[in-house]
Amino acid sequence: MDEILFRALVEAVDGYLGRVERIAALSSEAGIELARLVGAWRSLLGQHPPARRGRCAGCRAPGMCSVWQVAGAWFVRA
Ligand SMILES: [Zn+2]
Repeated sequence: MDEILFRALVEAVDGYLGRVERIAALSSEAGIELARLVGAWRSLLGQHPPARRGRCAGCRAPGMCSVWQVAGAWFVRA
């Protein structure tokens, strides 16, 4: 994945998590659990920041790491 596509994925996932956070703020018990899930995902994604050439700085593996693959599959392409 190149750097531009990775940035687009990061923005799309961040947008999704932001929408969930706004929904969570509107409800009570479910909102607490949604906020917990969003916080966990933001923490996990924060450990896998985008690096040069579309790589993950956390994994340093070539291509998109499994964390971003899952986030993209569930939060953007779903
Ligand atoms: Zn990673």
